[in-house]
Amino acid sequence: AVKRTPLIAGNWKMNFDHLQAIAFVQKLAWSLKDAQHNYGEVEVAVFPPFTDLRSVQTLLAADKLAVALGAQDVSPHAAGAYTGDISAAMLSKLDVRYIIVGHSERRGGHGESDETVGLKARAAVTAGMVPVICVGETAEDLEAHGAAAIPVQQLQAALSQLPAEAEFVVAYEPVWAIGSGDPATPAQAEEVGKALRDVLRAERGDAVADATRILYGGSVASQNVASYLKQPNLDGALVGGASLKVDEFSRIAQFT
Ligand code: PEP
Repeated sequence: AVKRTPLIAGNWKMNFDHLQAIAFVQKLAWSLKDAQHNYGEVEVAVFPPFTDLRSVQTLLAADKLAVALGAQDVSPHAAGAYTGDISAAMLSKLDVRYIIVGHSERRGGHGESDETVGLKARAAVTAGMVPVICVGETAEDLEAHGAAAIPVQQLQAALSQLPAEAEFVVAYEPVWAIGSGDPATPAQAEEVGKALRDVLRAERGDAVADATRILYGGSVASQNVASYLKQPNLDGALVGGASLKVDEFSRIAQFT
């Protein structure tokens, strides 16, 4: 079997100012420090709002903490007259490693098209970072097309913008499961995870398909995370609400 390092990613969304962010990451790192000896290799990442990144970066560097830094969005443009946007180069300077692109709250709430999402993923890759490409069907999509069709189409669209050597992560997040307390069953999530990996295999070949991590997101909590991680095609979790409680997020990161 192919071994992929699991990724547990906490998307804070629009929560925590920079002081709260520092306190949170300190507690998280403290709680993971002991635990990290006990379970297999796992990568833990937090995705604070832009305004917190510099503070969290400084803390992670000063204390050499084993938490990776992520951003929640990025501009598809390199620089210029884009009021309110943040470029990939700016994020790269802050030691950001991962960038969420295409979260359903951006696709839905900000009208981001598949093309925009692909261009954002490309901007992240061009600046040396790893996009976390979010895909997922709404309840209406599920009804009309089944679970996998829309996520597959969204992934194909994003891949069409990415260079062949790009490293990326895929996050399958059924929109109906986000923040609803009603997660997909592990079998449902695995079915889509398998379909997404088949896309990777068809479009990028075996090496990329075997190395790329596919996360599940949507009402993940400490009680259910292990059931997703057991699935052959799921390699981690993208966590929203439960990533704001330090004890809970720490338990999620210790899923084994
Ligand atoms: C998310 O928004 O990425 C998410 C998975 O949220 P929650 O865990 O709260 O469902």
